[in-house]
Amino acid sequence: MDSRPRITVVGAGMAGSDAALAAARQGVDVDLVEMRPVRTTPAHATDRFAEMVCSNSLGGTGETNAKGLLQAEMRAAGGAIVTHADASRVPAGGALAVDRSVLAERVTAAVEAHPRITVRREELTTLPDGPAVLATGPLTSDTFAAAIAERLGEDFLGFYDAAAPIVDVDSIDMDVAYRKGRYDQAADYLNLPLREADYARFLEAIGEARSHTPHDWEKLEFFEGCMPIEELARRGPETPRFGPMKPVGLEHPETGERFHAVVQLRQEDAAGRMWSLVGFQTGLKWGDQKTVVTTLPGLENADVVRYGVMHRNTYLNAPRLLEAHLALRNDADLFVAGVLAGTEGYLESSATGWLAGTNAARRALGLDPLLPPETSMLGGLVRFLSGANPDGFQPMNANWGLVPNAPKKDDAGRRMAKKDRRAWMFARGLEAFTGFLGAHGLAAAPAVPNDAPQDAPQDAPKDAPHDRAPAPAGVGGD
Ligand SMILES: Cc1cc2nc3c(=O)[nH]c(=O)nc-3n(C[C@H](O)[C@H](O)[C@H](O)COP(=O)(O)OP(=O)(O)OC[C@H]3O[C@@H](n4cnc5c(N)ncnc54)[C@H](O)[C@@H]3O)c2cc1C
Repeated sequence: MDSRPRITVVGAGMAGSDAALAAARQGVDVDLVEMRPVRTTPAHATDRFAEMVCSNSLGGTGETNAKGLLQAEMRAAGGAIVTHADASRVPAGGALAVDRSVLAERVTAAVEAHPRITVRREELTTLPDGPAVLATGPLTSDTFAAAIAERLGEDFLGFYDAAAPIVDVDSIDMDVAYRKGRYDQAADYLNLPLREADYARFLEAIGEARSHTPHDWEKLEFFEGCMPIEELARRGPETPRFGPMKPVGLEHPETGERFHAVVQLRQEDAAGRMWSLVGFQTGLKWGDQKTVVTTLPGLENADVVRYGVMHRNTYLNAPRLLEAHLALRNDADLFVAGVLAGTEGYLESSATGWLAGTNAARRALGLDPLLPPETSMLGGLVRFLSGANPDGFQPMNANWGLVPNAPKKDDAGRRMAKKDRRAWMFARGLEAFTGFLGAHGLAAAPAVPNDAPQDAPQDAPKDAPHDRAPAPAGVGGD
């Protein structure tokens, strides 16, 4: 009987595929459980792994792009999705877009050909025993979602994304915004004052903005408490002013001026780099969201780091439940990745899959889990998941607000332009991440050429874990 350490990965989407291959690469055996085609989801169309259900893009590339940094990190780690995406690429300007069927074929072939991975096509309905990665995604089957809720509590599982836009703190005009809590509560909020003409401009912009059309299967039924701001505006010009834009109790603390309406901004991350617009959950198209947001006084130059979304989802309240290394706080065997862990996007799902798979394998091998450096995009993302404000937690994608800022001036004391600061953050993050990979024996094999044969899995195991550098005590990394 084979006594090799073994883990289970549930779900072979963006996160689960990366998790299974990353774990197998660590030298453990993997049971990968995927319910398609036995049972399918309302959005998937095939039985292939890593199927992209909507757009075919893993986001913008390049050294001024936050997703570009995460792609570069996953390339350095040999992450399965990015590696095979590079080999499935189609021309798309500055984005890493792929031929979705080629990507899915390549990933499926790599997983199925892997000698340490056993694929089981069945719907899992109970939580697995032993080290495991849960990666069942936004359309987790109902029975499995119920099993998760039973273990973690109903309140800890969200079934709906009703997210508001989030802006970078450096792009808020602090000469306009003022700190104050409603009435005399703690001054934790930033407030944007709207006079009558400002409010009229806002109403005009939102009236002209276009919404995403919901998929048939997710016809949106809004709860009164999380009505999209555009829907409130449609109900009547005064409705937002009596709802999330209510000015009562928010007079200016210095001048005492009462405003016609006020938009409150709430801090999203512990470092105060990202602020969300309270009550501004929205399903508007992203370009139109930007137009609406930038009509608000103080946000004329807003850098929107995460746009609002309204769609069906299944995700944990990560800040209450997850360690930054992606294990549950109350069960060190159970790791969570992808959308279920509170990320948003194909790329983010695959990257957290890579980390969760690596750490679940390390758990099976009796090694400590790893935490990527905080200046890397993956390190920033997982720290956000475990450290964000748990109240009203909404999934997050890669963005520059997740990592510490660049200095405003260069070594010679010259002010750095935004693109130069981002390039600086990109170089810093990638250097830290590759150092982290090197320290733990996790660096990728040489890059996959674009014409690599499809039947050759790029992630075949190379060396046994005991050949690797010893892990430091406690959570590794940094
Ligand atoms: C309709 C829709 C459109 C989206 N569009 C985009 C987009 O355009 N761009 C983008 O970046 N992100 C998009 N997302 C968000 C998200 O990034 C993707 O859904 C991404 O695929 C998430 O990766 P994942 O691994 O977490 O989940 P998935 O890729 O969905 O993988 C989860 C897998 O788990 C399986 N599964 C579920 N329950 C069970 C069970 N009980 N037992 C066994 N297997 C199970 C599913 O069949 C699936 O294969 C979209 C989400 C939705 C719902």
